[in-house]
Amino acid sequence: MFKALLLTKTDQPAPHCAITELDEAKLPEGDVLVQVAYSTLNYKDSLAITGKSPVVRTWPMVPGIDFAGTVLESSDGRYKKGDAVLLNGWGVGERHWGGFAQKARVKADWLVPLPAGLSAEQTMAIGTAGYTAMLCVMRLQDQGVTPDGGPVLVTGANGGVGSIAIALLSRLGFTVHASTGRMNEAAHLKALGASELIDRAELNAAGRPLQKERWAAAVDSVGSHTLANVCASVRYGGVVAACGLAQGMDFPATVAPFILRGVTLAGVDSVMAPYERRMQAWKRLAQELPADVLAGNTAKIGLSGVADMAARQLSGHVRGRVVIDVNA
Ligand code: NDP
Repeated sequence: MFKALLLTKTDQPAPHCAITELDEAKLPEGDVLVQVAYSTLNYKDSLAITGKSPVVRTWPMVPGIDFAGTVLESSDGRYKKGDAVLLNGWGVGERHWGGFAQKARVKADWLVPLPAGLSAEQTMAIGTAGYTAMLCVMRLQDQGVTPDGGPVLVTGANGGVGSIAIALLSRLGFTVHASTGRMNEAAHLKALGASELIDRAELNAAGRPLQKERWAAAVDSVGSHTLANVCASVRYGGVVAACGLAQGMDFPATVAPFILRGVTLAGVDSVMAPYERRMQAWKRLAQELPADVLAGNTAKIGLSGVADMAARQLSGHVRGRVVIDVNA
């Protein structure tokens, strides 16, 4: 038996959410059984737990789109008992039982070895949000964005993706501007590496198709009008890495920035990212994200704190990252 957070469908949008003792035999099929040490609360997990979006596709569901732990059993040659592993995405916590549990059984293809230099807890302090932030940084760099090109904007600055993107970009030598609705967190955002703060109210309402050219590039986890205004404000030839929808899934924009300024809108998906790309992102995270910055950006809770924290996250009251100690 093992402990898990279990979501059960109800006739309301919000599922029933309870810590439950589950039998290992009930775990879904997979090649590798993992003793989970830590998971983390991602935006998508909060949507699943609150039922605000139809993230969960099969019921009942153990949420948790990522986890880190140790292999207990493996029928796949790539992993053996005792190996330290982590997982992000692949529909885990949506279609396949996820990381808010002491055990998980998954496909070997979905795992990556724990990167050298990071503990299981540190990988989950980064979590899918931080790994996505690195994928965004890599996307900008793939498009030739360099620190001497001008400032880079990060939206959703206090969030998981935003906070780690600020830390990564500033350590690469970029001048980072941070857009936030929480100007009272200025000290934290500056400690992460932001040099200038922008009130997100400047960006989150309908704006003109082309605006003053302000940034060389941007990492956007907010979507909607914010993404449209960011595209309209990026300099000629600039690049916007778009990964999120914290403001909304809509994109009320015009083609003007793309056809008149040659702006590139670069989409970033972490869920289905190929193995080599994941390995590259995690290797870089281990090397480029200082441990003290990570620690200062992370809170830790047990499974019993997840439901409350999910509601707090969706109302914009969580700063940085939340690690879940599934054994607490
Ligand atoms: P968080 O909840 O940690 O952060 C989101 C941040 O967005 C908030 O902290 C807030 O920052 C800002 N925000 C919230 N509501 C609004 C609003 N109405 N208007 C403008 N800004 C707002 O979430 P994450 O950082 O973990 O994830 C952010 C987004 O990225 C989510 O939509 C998530 O689903 C997506 N995502 C996508 C991935 C992918 O593979 N493409 C992977 C991981 C995440 P502040 O208070 O500073 O304004």
